[in-house]
Amino acid sequence: MLTVNSLANATDGMTRVALIAHDETKPDLIDFAREHESQLSEYELVATGTTGKRLQEDVGLEVDRKQSGPLGGDLQIGAEVADDRLDGIVFLRDPLRAQPHEPDISALLRICDVHDTALATNLASATFLIEGLAE
Ligand code: PGA
Repeated sequence: MLTVNSLANATDGMTRVALIAHDETKPDLIDFAREHESQLSEYELVATGTTGKRLQEDVGLEVDRKQSGPLGGDLQIGAEVADDRLDGIVFLRDPLRAQPHEPDISALLRICDVHDTALATNLASATFLIEGLAE
């Protein structure tokens, strides 16, 4: 049986969002974050290591940085999904190149489905996700 995303975050009222991008898609994620900077700055943000560094340095967002993806960052974010701590994830994957940590990425996508956590893997769905969170 699937569990519907709990309202764990409703207790502290803070929306918590994860942002992840593979190297080829990092420029797109940075552009996306710049475009939605004022909205994102009101949220608690978590990101994999290198993505988080770029968000801090290039966009000026405050980010809880986990390990880099290949070192376990995707799994750390997956653990937050398992704890129902996240309201949504924007994960811009590179669809053209296999990543060495593909099993970790699959695990993250799976746990989002298990917990019914909103997950966007391209810019079009990321735009819907961010608009949905704003409501
Ligand atoms: P990175 O990890 O932000 O540390 O590059 C992303 C990933 O490979 O999943």
